[in-house]
Amino acid sequence: MSAGKILKGGVLCLSLFFSFSAWAQDRPAYFPGTEELAKDEVRVISCGSGMPMPRLKQAAACFLMEFGNGEKLIFDMGTGSLERVYALNIPLDLIDKVFIGHIHMDHMGDLPAFYQYGPQNNRSKPLRVWGPGGGGTRPEWSFEASMAAMQKMWAWMNGTLVGTIDTSAFALEVNQFDWTVENNVIYESNGIVVKTIPAIHFEQSVSFIVEYAGMTIAYSSDTLPNKFWIEHTKGVDLSIHEAFLPTELMIEKWSFLPQEALNAGTTIHSSAEFFGKVMALTQPKHAVAYHFQNDHDTLPAMIEAIELYYDGPIDYAQDFMVWNVTPEGVTTRMAVVNPEGFPPVPLHEKEIEAASGERYWTPDEVYSWWPAEEFDPVAEALFDRFNQANGTDFKFQLGKPE
Ligand SMILES: [Zn+2]
Ligand SMILES: [Zn+2]
Repeated sequence: MSAGKILKGGVLCLSLFFSFSAWAQDRPAYFPGTEELAKDEVRVISCGSGMPMPRLKQAAACFLMEFGNGEKLIFDMGTGSLERVYALNIPLDLIDKVFIGHIHMDHMGDLPAFYQYGPQNNRSKPLRVWGPGGGGTRPEWSFEASMAAMQKMWAWMNGTLVGTIDTSAFALEVNQFDWTVENNVIYESNGIVVKTIPAIHFEQSVSFIVEYAGMTIAYSSDTLPNKFWIEHTKGVDLSIHEAFLPTELMIEKWSFLPQEALNAGTTIHSSAEFFGKVMALTQPKHAVAYHFQNDHDTLPAMIEAIELYYDGPIDYAQDFMVWNVTPEGVTTRMAVVNPEGFPPVPLHEKEIEAASGERYWTPDEVYSWWPAEEFDPVAEALFDRFNQANGTDFKFQLGKPE
Protein backbone atom coordinates (compact mmCIF):
# COMPACT_ATOMS: atom_id res chain seq x y z
CA MET A 1 0.00 0.00 0.00
CA SER A 2 1.38 3.38 -0.94
CA ALA A 3 1.92 6.14 1.55
CA GLY A 4 -0.75 8.16 -0.27
CA LYS A 5 -3.37 5.46 0.24
CA ILE A 6 -2.50 5.11 3.93
CA LEU A 7 -2.74 8.87 4.34
CA LYS A 8 -6.09 8.98 2.54
CA GLY A 9 -7.45 6.17 4.73
CA GLY A 10 -6.25 7.97 7.83
CA VAL A 11 -7.94 11.22 6.79
CA LEU A 12 -11.16 9.36 6.08
CA CYS A 13 -11.11 7.69 9.52
CA LEU A 14 -10.29 10.99 11.21
CA SER A 15 -13.08 12.89 9.44
CA LEU A 16 -15.58 10.14 10.28
CA PHE A 17 -14.48 10.32 13.91
CA PHE A 18 -14.94 14.10 14.02
CA SER A 19 -18.32 14.05 12.31
CA PHE A 20 -19.66 11.37 14.68
CA SER A 21 -18.37 13.09 17.79
CA ALA A 22 -19.78 16.43 16.65
CA TRP A 23 -23.17 14.79 16.09
CA ALA A 24 -23.16 13.29 19.55
CA GLN A 25 -22.20 16.56 21.28
CA ASP A 26 -24.61 18.77 19.42
CA ARG A 27 -27.78 16.87 20.16
CA PRO A 28 -30.00 19.60 21.62
CA ALA A 29 -31.73 18.97 24.93
CA TYR A 30 -33.00 21.01 27.87
CA PHE A 31 -32.09 19.85 31.36
CA PRO A 32 -34.57 21.51 33.78
CA GLY A 33 -33.08 23.82 36.35
CA THR A 34 -29.80 24.35 34.49
CA GLU A 35 -30.51 27.42 32.33
CA GLU A 36 -31.18 31.06 33.20
CA LEU A 37 -33.63 32.83 30.94
CA ALA A 38 -32.73 36.17 29.39
CA LYS A 39 -34.93 39.08 30.54
CA ASP A 40 -36.80 39.09 27.23
CA GLU A 41 -37.17 35.33 26.87
CA VAL A 42 -40.01 32.88 27.50
CA ARG A 43 -39.57 29.12 27.86
CA VAL A 44 -42.68 27.09 27.04
CA ILE A 45 -42.76 23.43 28.06
CA SER A 46 -45.38 20.96 26.92
CA CYS A 47 -46.40 18.98 30.01
CA GLY A 48 -49.27 17.43 28.08
CA SER A 49 -49.76 17.33 24.31
CA GLY A 50 -52.28 14.52 24.01
CA MET A 51 -55.91 13.56 24.27
CA PRO A 52 -58.56 12.55 26.81
CA MET A 53 -57.48 8.91 26.50
CA PRO A 54 -54.88 8.29 29.23
CA ARG A 55 -51.61 7.12 27.68
CA LEU A 56 -48.08 6.79 29.03
CA LYS A 57 -46.50 8.68 26.16
CA GLN A 58 -48.72 11.77 26.22
CA ALA A 59 -50.65 13.43 29.02
CA ALA A 60 -53.67 15.57 28.16
CA ALA A 61 -53.36 19.33 27.61
CA CYS A 62 -50.90 21.32 29.75
CA PHE A 63 -48.38 24.03 28.86
CA LEU A 64 -46.03 25.71 31.34
CA MET A 65 -44.69 29.15 30.45
CA GLU A 66 -41.59 30.43 32.26
CA PHE A 67 -40.75 34.11 31.80
CA GLY A 68 -37.47 36.04 31.95
CA ASN A 69 -38.84 38.04 34.91
CA GLY A 70 -38.99 34.84 37.01
CA GLU A 71 -42.75 34.24 36.77
CA LYS A 72 -44.20 30.88 35.77
CA LEU A 73 -47.76 30.32 34.56
CA ILE A 74 -49.51 27.03 33.77
CA PHE A 75 -52.15 26.85 31.04
CA ASP A 76 -54.56 23.93 31.39
CA MET A 77 -53.83 20.90 33.54
CA GLY A 78 -55.29 17.85 31.83
CA THR A 79 -55.16 14.31 33.16
CA GLY A 80 -51.63 12.91 33.43
CA SER A 81 -49.96 16.32 33.24
CA LEU A 82 -49.24 16.59 36.96
CA GLU A 83 -46.38 14.10 36.93
CA ARG A 84 -44.83 15.92 33.94
CA VAL A 85 -45.00 19.23 35.82
CA TYR A 86 -43.46 17.60 38.90
CA ALA A 87 -40.71 15.98 36.80
CA LEU A 88 -39.36 19.49 36.13
CA ASN A 89 -38.63 19.72 39.89
CA ILE A 90 -39.78 23.34 40.24
CA PRO A 91 -40.63 24.37 43.85
CA LEU A 92 -44.42 24.54 44.00
CA ASP A 93 -44.46 28.07 45.44
CA LEU A 94 -43.08 29.17 42.05
CA ILE A 95 -45.94 27.56 40.11
CA ASP A 96 -48.95 28.86 42.03
CA LYS A 97 -50.91 30.22 39.03
CA VAL A 98 -53.02 28.00 36.77
CA PHE A 99 -55.22 29.21 33.90
CA ILE A 100 -57.98 26.88 32.70
CA GLY A 101 -59.50 27.22 29.21
CA HIS A 102 -62.60 25.13 29.93
CA ILE A 103 -63.79 22.43 32.30
CA HIS A 104 -63.05 19.31 30.28
CA MET A 105 -61.15 16.56 32.10
CA ASP A 106 -58.39 16.66 29.45
CA HIS A 107 -57.81 20.35 30.35
CA MET A 108 -58.47 20.33 34.08
CA GLY A 109 -58.41 16.72 35.32
CA ASP A 110 -55.13 17.06 37.24
CA LEU A 111 -55.93 20.44 38.83
CA PRO A 112 -57.58 18.78 41.87
CA ALA A 113 -54.46 16.65 42.42
CA PHE A 114 -52.15 19.64 41.96
CA TYR A 115 -54.19 21.52 44.56
CA GLN A 116 -54.66 18.62 47.00
CA TYR A 117 -51.01 17.52 46.86
CA GLY A 118 -49.70 21.01 47.65
CA PRO A 119 -49.27 20.51 51.40
CA GLN A 120 -47.45 17.18 51.03
CA ASN A 121 -45.15 18.64 48.42
CA ASN A 122 -43.98 21.83 50.08
CA ARG A 123 -46.31 24.47 48.76
CA SER A 124 -47.06 27.18 51.31
CA LYS A 125 -48.80 29.74 49.12
CA PRO A 126 -52.46 29.64 48.15
CA LEU A 127 -53.01 28.14 44.72
CA ARG A 128 -54.34 30.82 42.36
CA VAL A 129 -56.62 29.60 39.57
CA TRP A 130 -58.37 31.37 36.70
CA GLY A 131 -61.25 29.99 34.67
CA PRO A 132 -64.26 31.02 32.59
CA GLY A 133 -67.84 31.18 33.77
CA GLY A 134 -71.16 32.91 33.81
CA GLY A 135 -73.60 33.68 31.04
CA GLY A 136 -74.35 31.18 28.32
CA THR A 137 -77.23 28.76 28.62
CA ARG A 138 -75.89 26.95 31.72
CA PRO A 139 -74.47 29.57 34.12
CA GLU A 140 -74.51 26.93 36.87
CA TRP A 141 -71.65 25.14 35.06
CA SER A 142 -69.26 27.94 35.95
CA PHE A 143 -65.62 27.65 37.00
CA GLU A 144 -66.48 29.01 40.46
CA ALA A 145 -69.10 26.29 40.96
CA SER A 146 -66.61 23.67 39.82
CA MET A 147 -63.92 24.86 42.26
CA ALA A 148 -66.39 24.97 45.16
CA ALA A 149 -67.48 21.42 44.34
CA MET A 150 -63.84 20.30 44.11
CA GLN A 151 -63.16 21.46 47.65
CA LYS A 152 -66.30 19.68 48.88
CA MET A 153 -65.37 16.49 47.08
CA TRP A 154 -61.99 16.37 48.83
CA ALA A 155 -63.19 17.54 52.28
CA TRP A 156 -62.13 14.22 53.86
CA MET A 157 -58.61 14.48 52.49
CA ASN A 158 -58.16 18.16 53.36
CA GLY A 159 -59.68 17.81 56.81
CA THR A 160 -57.72 14.77 57.98
CA LEU A 161 -54.39 16.42 57.15
CA VAL A 162 -55.02 19.53 59.25
CA GLY A 163 -52.50 19.69 62.08
CA THR A 164 -50.36 16.77 60.93
CA ILE A 165 -48.49 18.54 58.12
CA ASP A 166 -48.22 22.15 56.89
CA THR A 167 -51.64 22.72 55.32
CA SER A 168 -51.41 26.46 54.68
CA ALA A 169 -51.47 25.64 50.94
CA PHE A 170 -55.12 24.59 51.19
CA ALA A 171 -56.00 28.24 50.64
CA LEU A 172 -57.41 28.55 47.11
CA GLU A 173 -57.86 31.80 45.21
CA VAL A 174 -60.51 31.41 42.49
CA ASN A 175 -60.62 34.04 39.73
CA GLN A 176 -63.58 33.59 37.44
CA PHE A 177 -63.71 35.80 34.35
CA ASP A 178 -66.30 36.61 31.69
CA TRP A 179 -65.58 34.26 28.81
CA THR A 180 -67.63 36.31 26.30
CA VAL A 181 -65.32 39.34 26.39
CA GLU A 182 -62.90 39.76 23.48
CA ASN A 183 -59.34 40.55 24.58
CA ASN A 184 -60.30 40.30 28.23
CA VAL A 185 -57.26 41.11 30.39
CA ILE A 186 -57.48 38.56 33.21
CA TYR A 187 -53.91 38.83 34.54
CA GLU A 188 -51.38 41.64 34.46
CA SER A 189 -48.18 41.60 36.46
CA ASN A 190 -44.55 42.51 36.09
CA GLY A 191 -44.73 43.00 32.32
CA ILE A 192 -46.89 39.92 31.62
CA VAL A 193 -50.41 40.34 30.23
CA VAL A 194 -52.78 37.38 29.86
CA LYS A 195 -55.87 38.01 27.74
CA THR A 196 -58.68 35.70 26.74
CA ILE A 197 -60.78 35.51 23.60
CA PRO A 198 -63.97 33.44 23.33
CA ALA A 199 -63.58 29.97 21.84
CA ILE A 200 -66.07 27.92 19.84
CA HIS A 201 -66.16 24.86 22.08
CA PHE A 202 -69.64 24.39 23.52
CA GLU A 203 -69.85 27.44 25.83
CA GLN A 204 -67.82 29.00 28.68
CA SER A 205 -64.57 28.18 26.84
CA VAL A 206 -61.68 30.48 25.98
CA SER A 207 -58.30 30.70 24.28
CA PHE A 208 -55.38 32.62 25.79
CA ILE A 209 -53.12 35.33 24.39
CA VAL A 210 -50.02 36.02 26.47
CA GLU A 211 -47.89 39.14 25.94
CA TYR A 212 -44.42 39.70 27.36
CA ALA A 213 -41.42 41.82 26.35
CA GLY A 214 -42.92 42.69 22.98
CA MET A 215 -43.64 39.03 22.18
CA THR A 216 -46.97 37.22 21.94
CA ILE A 217 -47.75 33.56 22.60
CA ALA A 218 -51.23 32.23 21.80
CA TYR A 219 -52.67 29.02 23.23
CA SER A 220 -56.01 27.81 21.90
CA SER A 221 -57.01 25.27 24.56
CA ASP A 222 -59.91 23.77 22.52
CA THR A 223 -61.67 25.64 19.76
CA LEU A 224 -62.96 25.54 16.25
CA PRO A 225 -61.44 28.18 14.00
CA ASN A 226 -63.03 31.49 14.96
CA LYS A 227 -62.89 35.16 14.05
CA PHE A 228 -61.25 36.19 17.34
CA TRP A 229 -58.30 33.82 16.95
CA ILE A 230 -57.84 34.80 13.32
CA GLU A 231 -57.93 38.51 14.13
CA HIS A 232 -55.80 38.53 17.27
CA THR A 233 -53.09 35.92 16.64
CA LYS A 234 -51.79 37.18 13.29
CA GLY A 235 -47.98 37.04 13.23
CA VAL A 236 -47.61 35.97 16.89
CA ASP A 237 -44.26 34.58 18.00
CA LEU A 238 -45.62 31.18 19.05
CA SER A 239 -49.08 29.90 18.13
CA ILE A 240 -50.12 26.71 19.96
CA HIS A 241 -53.39 25.42 18.55
CA GLU A 242 -55.28 22.16 18.76
CA ALA A 243 -55.25 19.84 15.73
CA PHE A 244 -57.26 16.64 15.73
CA LEU A 245 -56.26 13.49 13.88
CA PRO A 246 -57.66 13.30 10.34
CA THR A 247 -61.11 11.68 10.23
CA GLU A 248 -59.90 8.35 8.81
CA LEU A 249 -57.52 7.94 11.77
CA MET A 250 -60.26 8.81 14.28
CA ILE A 251 -62.22 5.93 12.78
CA GLU A 252 -59.26 3.55 12.60
CA LYS A 253 -57.59 4.30 15.94
CA TRP A 254 -60.52 5.40 18.13
CA SER A 255 -63.15 3.07 16.68
CA PHE A 256 -65.34 6.10 16.03
CA LEU A 257 -68.28 5.77 13.69
CA PRO A 258 -67.76 7.97 10.62
CA GLN A 259 -70.39 10.45 11.81
CA GLU A 260 -68.82 10.56 15.30
CA ALA A 261 -65.39 11.26 13.85
CA LEU A 262 -66.71 13.99 11.58
CA ASN A 263 -68.66 15.58 14.44
CA ALA A 264 -65.68 15.56 16.81
CA GLY A 265 -63.19 16.86 14.25
CA THR A 266 -65.32 19.50 12.54
CA THR A 267 -68.03 20.75 14.93
CA ILE A 268 -66.28 20.67 18.33
CA HIS A 269 -62.56 20.52 17.56
CA SER A 270 -60.21 21.73 14.86
CA SER A 271 -59.29 18.99 12.43
CA ALA A 272 -55.73 18.94 11.12
CA GLU A 273 -57.02 20.60 7.94
CA PHE A 274 -58.70 23.39 9.95
CA PHE A 275 -55.44 23.88 11.86
CA GLY A 276 -53.55 24.22 8.58
CA LYS A 277 -55.97 26.83 7.28
CA VAL A 278 -55.87 28.78 10.59
CA MET A 279 -52.07 28.96 10.43
CA ALA A 280 -52.14 29.94 6.76
CA LEU A 281 -54.48 32.84 7.62
CA THR A 282 -52.57 33.99 10.71
CA GLN A 283 -48.95 33.27 9.65
CA PRO A 284 -47.38 32.97 13.12
CA LYS A 285 -43.59 33.07 13.39
CA HIS A 286 -43.81 29.51 14.71
CA ALA A 287 -46.79 27.14 14.90
CA VAL A 288 -47.37 24.22 17.27
CA ALA A 289 -49.98 21.53 16.65
CA TYR A 290 -51.11 19.67 19.76
CA HIS A 291 -54.02 17.49 20.94
CA PHE A 292 -53.39 14.37 18.87
CA GLN A 293 -51.57 11.09 19.36
CA ASN A 294 -48.18 11.80 17.86
CA ASP A 295 -46.83 8.43 16.68
CA HIS A 296 -44.81 7.08 13.77
CA ASP A 297 -48.01 5.97 12.03
CA THR A 298 -50.18 9.03 12.75
CA LEU A 299 -47.73 11.87 12.15
CA PRO A 300 -47.43 11.40 8.36
CA ALA A 301 -51.22 11.76 7.97
CA MET A 302 -51.21 14.87 10.22
CA ILE A 303 -48.45 16.46 8.17
CA GLU A 304 -50.21 15.64 4.91
CA ALA A 305 -53.52 17.15 6.10
CA ILE A 306 -51.91 20.30 7.53
CA GLU A 307 -49.69 20.84 4.49
CA LEU A 308 -52.78 21.02 2.30
CA TYR A 309 -53.04 24.59 3.65
CA TYR A 310 -49.88 25.55 5.58
CA ASP A 311 -46.19 25.18 4.85
CA GLY A 312 -44.65 27.53 7.46
CA PRO A 313 -42.53 26.76 10.54
CA ILE A 314 -44.23 24.15 12.72
CA ASP A 315 -43.69 21.62 15.50
CA TYR A 316 -45.87 18.59 16.12
CA ALA A 317 -46.02 18.61 19.92
CA GLN A 318 -44.91 15.79 22.16
CA ASP A 319 -44.71 15.82 25.95
CA PHE A 320 -41.58 17.61 27.21
CA MET A 321 -41.07 19.55 23.99
CA VAL A 322 -39.51 22.90 24.93
CA TRP A 323 -39.67 26.19 23.03
CA ASN A 324 -37.41 29.11 23.87
CA VAL A 325 -39.11 32.22 22.53
CA THR A 326 -37.02 35.39 22.05
CA PRO A 327 -37.30 38.47 19.82
CA GLU A 328 -34.80 36.70 17.52
CA GLY A 329 -37.00 33.64 17.06
CA VAL A 330 -38.04 30.29 18.46
CA THR A 331 -35.83 27.26 19.15
CA THR A 332 -37.27 23.81 19.84
CA ARG A 333 -35.70 21.10 21.97
CA MET A 334 -36.79 18.18 24.11
CA ALA A 335 -36.44 18.28 27.90
CA VAL A 336 -34.58 15.48 29.64
CA VAL A 337 -36.22 14.94 33.03
CA ASN A 338 -35.65 12.84 36.12
CA PRO A 339 -38.22 10.02 36.39
CA GLU A 340 -37.23 9.42 40.05
CA GLY A 341 -38.16 12.79 41.49
CA PHE A 342 -38.93 13.72 45.08
CA PRO A 343 -40.95 16.76 46.14
CA PRO A 344 -39.22 19.99 45.14
CA VAL A 345 -37.63 21.81 48.10
CA PRO A 346 -39.76 24.21 50.18
CA LEU A 347 -39.09 27.93 49.78
CA HIS A 348 -40.50 28.70 53.22
CA GLU A 349 -40.24 27.78 56.88
CA LYS A 350 -42.56 24.81 57.44
CA GLU A 351 -45.18 25.03 60.16
CA ILE A 352 -47.42 22.14 61.18
CA GLU A 353 -49.66 24.11 63.50
CA ALA A 354 -53.17 24.00 62.03
CA ALA A 355 -53.22 27.11 59.85
CA SER A 356 -56.38 26.16 58.00
CA GLY A 357 -58.66 25.08 60.85
CA GLU A 358 -58.77 23.03 64.01
CA ARG A 359 -56.57 19.96 64.16
CA TYR A 360 -58.27 16.71 63.27
CA TRP A 361 -57.81 13.67 65.55
CA THR A 362 -58.47 10.05 64.54
CA PRO A 363 -61.24 8.75 66.89
CA ASP A 364 -60.06 6.80 69.94
CA GLU A 365 -62.23 3.88 68.88
CA VAL A 366 -60.20 3.46 65.66
CA TYR A 367 -56.91 3.61 67.56
CA SER A 368 -58.28 0.97 69.96
CA TRP A 369 -57.56 -1.51 67.15
CA TRP A 370 -53.80 -0.91 67.49
CA PRO A 371 -52.08 -4.13 68.71
CA ALA A 372 -50.36 -2.35 71.57
CA GLU A 373 -48.68 -5.33 73.16
CA GLU A 374 -46.73 -6.26 70.02
CA PHE A 375 -46.27 -2.82 68.44
CA ASP A 376 -45.76 -0.34 71.29
CA PRO A 377 -42.23 -1.73 71.85
CA VAL A 378 -41.48 -1.46 68.11
CA ALA A 379 -42.66 2.16 67.97
CA GLU A 380 -40.85 3.10 71.18
CA ALA A 381 -37.59 1.60 69.91
CA LEU A 382 -38.02 3.54 66.68
CA PHE A 383 -38.45 6.77 68.66
CA ASP A 384 -35.44 5.96 70.87
CA ARG A 385 -33.22 5.47 67.84
CA PHE A 386 -34.50 8.68 66.23
CA ASN A 387 -34.06 10.76 69.40
CA GLN A 388 -30.58 9.43 70.01
CA ALA A 389 -29.48 10.14 66.45
CA ASN A 390 -31.01 13.60 66.36
CA GLY A 391 -30.72 14.87 69.93
CA THR A 392 -34.49 15.21 70.19
CA ASP A 393 -37.08 14.14 72.73
CA PHE A 394 -40.17 13.09 70.75
CA LYS A 395 -42.62 10.66 72.38
CA PHE A 396 -44.75 8.05 70.61
CA GLN A 397 -48.42 8.91 71.02
CA LEU A 398 -51.61 7.79 69.28
CA GLY A 399 -54.61 10.10 69.40
CA LYS A 400 -55.30 13.30 71.24
CA PRO A 401 -53.14 13.84 74.35
CA GLU A 402 -55.09 13.73 77.65
ZN1 LIG B 1 -62.50 20.39 25.38
ZN1 LIG C 1 -59.41 18.99 24.72
